[in-house]
Amino acid sequence: MTSLAQETQEPLRQVGLSTEVSDRERYSRQILFRGIGEQGQQKLAAARVAIVGCGATGSALAGLLARAGVGTLRIVDRDYVEPSNLQRQSLFDESDAAESLPKAIAAARKISAFNSRIVVEPKVDDLVPDNIETLLEGLDLILDGTDNFETRYLINDYAVARSRSWIYSAAVGSYAVTMNVLPGQTACLACVFPDSPRGMVETCETSGILNSAVNLVASIAATEALKLLVGGVQAPDLRQTLLSFDLWTNEHAEVSTAKPRPGCRACGERDFIHLAGKGRPHITLCGRNSVQIHERHRPIDFEEMDRRLRPHGSVRHNDFVLKFWHEPYEMTLFPDGRAIIKGTTDAAIARSLYARYVGS
Ligand SMILES: [Zn+2]
Repeated sequence: MTSLAQETQEPLRQVGLSTEVSDRERYSRQILFRGIGEQGQQKLAAARVAIVGCGATGSALAGLLARAGVGTLRIVDRDYVEPSNLQRQSLFDESDAAESLPKAIAAARKISAFNSRIVVEPKVDDLVPDNIETLLEGLDLILDGTDNFETRYLINDYAVARSRSWIYSAAVGSYAVTMNVLPGQTACLACVFPDSPRGMVETCETSGILNSAVNLVASIAATEALKLLVGGVQAPDLRQTLLSFDLWTNEHAEVSTAKPRPGCRACGERDFIHLAGKGRPHITLCGRNSVQIHERHRPIDFEEMDRRLRPHGSVRHNDFVLKFWHEPYEMTLFPDGRAIIKGTTDAAIARSLYARYVGS
């Protein structure tokens, strides 16, 4: 009896063991790479990285760093998954879009399916001056997955003020651009772009975007992140340029960022206007014909709100978001009272819809 039980249990136990991958096995090909090695892998396991914005670039960055074994990833995103995201936002699938899942939550779920050994901290939130200290506290590196200069300047101010490294990344059309910002060492974003590029009105909606441009910029930025996490800010191979590449025309350029620009508002004069948060009542999202209402002290009971809105249009909700369709607008409400109103770029219209259906 005993031997029979042992015989039948043994293979089961082996099957059980084989599904649990040891870190040594999981990262073996990366440990073999001379730039990483055993010690580098241990540093990655101990590292804490923020990814701000989890759209196309953020998804690719999070996917690469999660698979590479970065121990803690904090993913900050204010948005939810839509069908038009699936062409390039590699962490999401059709069921996430059908459920309108917040991107941070969907990303954390997806990552846990391929690397359950790391910690992912999803934060469904909009990074603003009021919460940046809390959201980015205690992290070694900040990666840019955002789609707007307002948030990038905010990250830059915070990073320069706190002497924290961050990596700027952007992609639109077939064009990708990235730079490392190492405060006290290299130029910062405000050195290179003193003001947000007004002429550059290209957005993902007006110019479209190739998923390969996203993956290129994410690959470069994720590799710089690995160099930095393994070798520190003095790592000899860290790039000190603004690198841009147009995958369609094959044009590419590199501009040195090795030295800060004298008189730079942020890293020279230490005038952190974006961190001080001078007036940001509303944000128009990246070319999406949407306005965000930054109300965040209005806890919403979704059951009750669902009942209240039902006579005025169609409503649907899960634990994370409530969606309300009122032609020609679509409102997405979050539990803290924040809302994204689609179908207008007029802040006043959005405000009035919000006041009418949620509260003023
Ligand atoms: Zn600067």
